[in-house]
Amino acid sequence: MFVEVIIPLALPKNYTWQVPEQMQLAIVPGIRVEVVLRKNKKYAGIVKRIVKEIPVGFTPSPILNILDSNPVVNETQLKLWEWIAQYYMCSEGEVMQAAIPANLKLSSESVLQWNEERSLDFSDLSDSEFIIAEALEIKGELKISEVQQLLDINNTYPVIKKLVEKGVCFVWEELKEKYKQKTENYILLHPKYAQENELEELLNNWSRAPKQMELLLAYLHLKNTTGIVSQPDLLKKANATAAQLKGLIEKGILIGERRNTDRLPSLPKLLSLDFNLSAAQEKALVSIKEIFESKTVCLLHGITASGKTQVYMKLIEEQIELGKQVLYLLPEIALTAQMIRRLQKSLGGHIAIYHSKFNPNERVEIWNKINSGETKVVLGARSALFLPFNNLGLIICDEEHDASYKQQEPAPRYHSRDAAIYYASLFNAKVLLGSATPSIETYFNVLQKKYGLVELLERYGDVALPAIELIDLKQIPAKQRNENPLSPSLLKGIQETLEAKKQIILFQNRRGYAPYMICDTCGWIPHCNHCDVTLTFHKGKQKLSCHYCGTTYPILQTCLACGNHHFVQKNFGTEKIEELVSEAFPHAVIARMDYDSVKGKHDHDNLIKIFEQHRIDILVGTQMVVKGLDFEKVSLVGIIDADGILNFTDFRVNERAYQLMEQVSGRAGRKDGLGKVMVQVSNLKHPVLQFVQQHNYQALYQFEIENRQQFHYPPFTRLIQVVFKHKDKHIAEEAANIMQQGLSNLFGAYLNGPSQPIVDRIRNQYIWEILLKLPKDSQTVNNCKRAIHQQMVLIQSNKRYRSVHIIPNTDPIY
Ligand code: ADP
Ligand code: ZN
Ligand code: ZN
Repeated sequence: MFVEVIIPLALPKNYTWQVPEQMQLAIVPGIRVEVVLRKNKKYAGIVKRIVKEIPVGFTPSPILNILDSNPVVNETQLKLWEWIAQYYMCSEGEVMQAAIPANLKLSSESVLQWNEERSLDFSDLSDSEFIIAEALEIKGELKISEVQQLLDINNTYPVIKKLVEKGVCFVWEELKEKYKQKTENYILLHPKYAQENELEELLNNWSRAPKQMELLLAYLHLKNTTGIVSQPDLLKKANATAAQLKGLIEKGILIGERRNTDRLPSLPKLLSLDFNLSAAQEKALVSIKEIFESKTVCLLHGITASGKTQVYMKLIEEQIELGKQVLYLLPEIALTAQMIRRLQKSLGGHIAIYHSKFNPNERVEIWNKINSGETKVVLGARSALFLPFNNLGLIICDEEHDASYKQQEPAPRYHSRDAAIYYASLFNAKVLLGSATPSIETYFNVLQKKYGLVELLERYGDVALPAIELIDLKQIPAKQRNENPLSPSLLKGIQETLEAKKQIILFQNRRGYAPYMICDTCGWIPHCNHCDVTLTFHKGKQKLSCHYCGTTYPILQTCLACGNHHFVQKNFGTEKIEELVSEAFPHAVIARMDYDSVKGKHDHDNLIKIFEQHRIDILVGTQMVVKGLDFEKVSLVGIIDADGILNFTDFRVNERAYQLMEQVSGRAGRKDGLGKVMVQVSNLKHPVLQFVQQHNYQALYQFEIENRQQFHYPPFTRLIQVVFKHKDKHIAEEAANIMQQGLSNLFGAYLNGPSQPIVDRIRNQYIWEILLKLPKDSQTVNNCKRAIHQQMVLIQSNKRYRSVHIIPNTDPIY
C-alpha cells in the first residue's frame, strides 16, 4: 500500500510513501503521518489519497508513524486545497501551511512552548509524556531535536501530539514570532454547583458572611451576562476585596484559574434577534432568498448604513434553525470588538470568532468545534475559510471589494472571496457578497447574470447620504498649502462641528509625520539602504522609517550629498495632521488611528470604544477608519488629500478611489443624516469625484468598465503576474527574460514586460515582473500556467538562477 502525502513545504508535487503492513488498516485520507524527507528531516504530513498502483522508477520509503485515529482535515477541505494550489499556482503543501493551526503541524523546525495555563498535576501523562512535560515546565521551550534526545527517537511525534492534546504545550514554527500569553485570574463556579438545585440549596442555607453572598450573587450575574468572569471585573462589580473572594475560594464554592485574557467567553446558545427589519430590508431579504433558489452567488449592493448586517443576521438565524453552518467573512481590520458585540447580542454562543490573535490551542479548539458541527457560525477574516466545515449552508463575504481578502505574502496568494465561492459549491451552499461599493469584477458578473443582485439603496431610518463638498486647493496659494494642509474651509467646518458637539473624522492615507525629507540646498532625499523608497519621518519616535521593510534610521542632521544641514519636510502624514489639528483646536480631544498608533488588537478596539463614547472629538486616521465602523455622532468627514488617492499608478485606481471616498463618507451622519464630507483636491474635474459627489456607483461602473475593456484588464482578461527577485539586478532581469522568451511563442500576444515596478528594490532584492493578460478561457489559462511552471523548473535548473525567487501570482491586487 502507498499513500500520497502533503508535506508543509513548497514542493513541485506531492510525494508517495509506502505504508507498512501493520499500519494499513488505520490509513484514511486526512490523517497525519510522520515521514522523513531529505537529509533526515521529519514532517507531519497529511494523507491525500491512497495509491493503488506501485510507483515506477523509485522505491518509496515507509512512513514512520500514524499520528491520528480520525482525519484532521476532511475530503472537502482537501478538494479546496487542491483547487487553491492549482488556481493560484502553488503547492498543496503551501496551502496546508496556511490552512491548519500550528498545533496540528509538526516538523523538525518546530519548537514546543510550555503552556502556562496548564496545571502542574501530571497524573494524566504517560512516562514519556511526563519526561517532556517536566523539561518543558523548567525550560519554557524545547526544540524537536531536544525532544528526540530525551526520548526514543522513533516515538517523538506521537508523544508530542498527545502533549499538545493534553494542553501541555503549543507548537511553534521556528523564526516566526512567538505567541505571548497575557494571563489573568479568572473565577469559575465549582462544578458541584453546576446543578441548579445544589446552588439553590447553598444560597438558601447561607448563614454568615453576607458580603460573600453578595459577591457570589454578583459573580452569578456577571457569568450570565458575559459568560466569563475575570477577578478584577468581579471585584469591581461587587465592590469587594480580594480577601472576601479568597473566603469563597477556600470554602470551595468558587475556583480561581489563570487564563489567557483573549480567551473567548462561552455564551449561552440563544437566538434573540431583538430588532425588526425595515420594509426595505425585509424586501431585500425576500429577494435574496428567491435568488438563492436558482443561483449560488448573490450580491447585496447596500449603501453605507443601509443595515446589511441586520439582513445577514436574519439569514444566519435561518441557517442555524436549519442546522446548517455559516461562514461570515470580514476584512481583518473590520473584525472589531464593536462588530463582535453586535453579533453576539443576537446570536450569542452560536457564533465563534477566528482570527490571527488567538493562541494555537484556542484555534484548535474552534477547529474541533467546527469539525464536530457543534459550532454553527464563524465570524472570521480571510483564513477562516480553511476551517473544517462539514455542513456549510451559507457564506457571507462582507465588504467583498476589500483588497485584504487577497493574500499577498507568502503563498498561497489566494483571494478568499473567490476561493469561498468554489468552497461553497462543494457543499451546494450559497454565497452572499455584500458591499456599498462592489468590485468591478463582481458587478460585471452580476450584469452577465452569473450572480444575482439585490439592492438596498436607502439608509436605515431613511437617513440621507452625506453631502459632499469639494474644496478647490488651487484657490489656496501654494506657500500656504505647503505649510498647512488644512484649508480655511475645512478648519471652519471642523470649528462648526465642534460647536454643534458632534464628532469629526479626518482621513489621510499616509502615516508618519512627513512622508519624506529633502535637502533644502541640493534636493537630496534620504532613501532606505535596502529598498528603493524614500524614508518617512516619524516625529514621536524621532526616527526615519522605511514603510516597505520596517528598517528605522536615526534622524539625519547632515545631507549625505552636499554636507549642508538643512532639511525640509515634504507632504503630511497622519502624525503631522494630528499635530496641526491640535494646534488649531487646543480644546478639542484628538486621537490618531493608524498602523503606528494601534499596534495591538486591543488598542484598536479601545480607541473605537472611546470614540464611540464621544470621549474623542476628532479622529485622524488612515484606511483603518474606513472599514465598517458605525458611529452615531460623526457629522463631518474630511478627506485631506484626494489627489493622492486619485493619482495612484494601478489599473484599479479609479475603483479604489471611489471605494475609499465613498466608504469614508459613509461614516458621516449615520443616525440623523446631518452628515457632510469635505474633500480637499486640486484636480476638481476628475470624473471619479463627480461620481462620489452623486453617490453614483452605476456611473463609476460604466466609466470604469470601458477603460478595462479598452486596455484589456479584468474582468475582460485573467491576469497572471510573475515576479522575479534577486539581490543581483542583472540575474533577476536575465531570469525574467528567459521566461519571457520561453512564453513568447504561445503567449506572446498576451505578454507584457519584463519591467521593473515603481519600487524596484525591497529588502535588498531587485524586482522584475512579467504580466500576462490572458483571455478568460480555461484552456488557455491552464496551458499558460503549465508553461510558467515548466519555465520555472527550467530556469532554476541552471545554477546561475537557482537562487532567483520566482513568484507566480494569479489575479494580482495591490
Ligand atoms: P451597513 O453595514 O449597511 O453600513 P449597518 O448594518 O451598520 O449598515 O447599519 C447601520 C446602523 O443602523 C447600525 O447602527 C444598525 O444597528 C442600525 N440598523 C440597521 N437596520 C436596523 C434595524 N432593522 N433595526 C434596528 N437598527 C438597525
Ligand atoms: Zn544636500
Ligand atoms: Zn526598506
